[in-house]
Amino acid sequence: MIFLFIPFLLPVLAIYSLPSFLQVPAAYQQLIELFPYLALGVGVLLALRFNRSRVFFSLLLILGLYLVLGLRPEVNEFTDRWLILAVSLLLPIDLLLLSFFKERGIFTIHGSVRFAFLAIQIVLVWWLIKEANLSWLNWLENNWLGIAWLVGIQQGISQSAWLAFTLVVIWQSVRLIRKPCLIESSVLATLLVVMVAIGQGVGASPSANFSAILFGFVAVLLVVTLVQESYGMAYMDELTGLPGRRAMMASLMSLGNKYSIAMLDIDHFKKFNDTHGHDVGDQVLRMVAARIGQVKGGGKPARYGGEEFAVIFPGKSSADIMVYLEVVRQQIEASPFTIRGQDRPKKKAKKGAKSAAKIRKPATKKVSVTISIGVAERSDKCRTADRVMKSADKALYRAKSKGRNQVCQ
Ligand code: GH3
Ligand code: MG
Ligand code: MG
Repeated sequence: MIFLFIPFLLPVLAIYSLPSFLQVPAAYQQLIELFPYLALGVGVLLALRFNRSRVFFSLLLILGLYLVLGLRPEVNEFTDRWLILAVSLLLPIDLLLLSFFKERGIFTIHGSVRFAFLAIQIVLVWWLIKEANLSWLNWLENNWLGIAWLVGIQQGISQSAWLAFTLVVIWQSVRLIRKPCLIESSVLATLLVVMVAIGQGVGASPSANFSAILFGFVAVLLVVTLVQESYGMAYMDELTGLPGRRAMMASLMSLGNKYSIAMLDIDHFKKFNDTHGHDVGDQVLRMVAARIGQVKGGGKPARYGGEEFAVIFPGKSSADIMVYLEVVRQQIEASPFTIRGQDRPKKKAKKGAKSAAKIRKPATKKVSVTISIGVAERSDKCRTADRVMKSADKALYRAKSKGRNQVCQ
């Protein structure tokens, strides 16, 4: 949970401490100017490689914004005002829109729609600069909110853009509370940083350096988010939130000479799925995983595959861990699973229509779920993790054949 706050350290750090470091020697000036382009470029390439459209388009928008800010000194005042108005108004709206859509890849039909939408915006801004008259611009830039104190804190952003930013920041905060994850907190931090950075301009002044560093850090932040998300996709199991098989295999490599492994398997799960449907089966998997995730004794749980889980206990013998596993087994047995008949079947109706119909009849029904556990430890006979796991699997088989719902060594 604490990692959700890390992205916010960035704007706080930037706003309060960076300006004092920005009187840099001339030799470093070029480096600072290069930093945002380098970071944004690397980010765009990585997002392409990982095929993550939200980060890709966010970085593209920020790169576009930075390029536009760089253009500013070279254009006339009218164009400059349109450009700054357009980017500061469109960026929060675009970031908001990106948050609404599911991750669907970059070079897909969904990605093409996003590209087309960006192209339309560029054409629209170009058309406005060419054709629109000053009164439109004045109206959009006007202090039409009529709030005098706002004028002082606008930092060169028009009130329409300021309002758009504020509304999107509020919306993004709500999203973050509802769905606390790194990408949502990074997007929120990005909005805040960009809001500050827009007012700073680019070029070779201290405030431009400040802006370059802010934009560079935003890119780094999004790259870190991307890497973290991709790591999560590769190593964490999406359904249960437990580490997946790959993560488990990686942690097997760091084990010493003393450890135990437990293999856990839900009893008669196929029958459960057939009776109540796959979606209810998934809910049971989540419930069981949550209990296994709370295992004591330093156990590292993972979803091994299907309805099988594994727990690795570094530094423990199998005799040591029996008590912790017995607690997990009892807890699962003692947690009746409630199947709700009314609001659940809708999604389910397509697959197993038969089982959905069965669920609909009773309003709620409590069923109990049990698991069997097999345990093995590293010994002279089982010297590798692979062998220990096979041995734990055999013990699990014994637990099943002895009548299930028990722990066997
Ligand atoms: P046993 O007590 O011997 O373990 O019997 P079982 O029915 O649990 O074992 P079996 O291996 O025959 O069936 C496992 C079932 O688990 C088959 C499959 O439908 C179900 N399953 C595997 N992965 C998932 C999943 O991700 N979601 C759901 N809902 N079911 C799954
Ligand atoms: Mg099984
Ligand atoms: Mg099973």
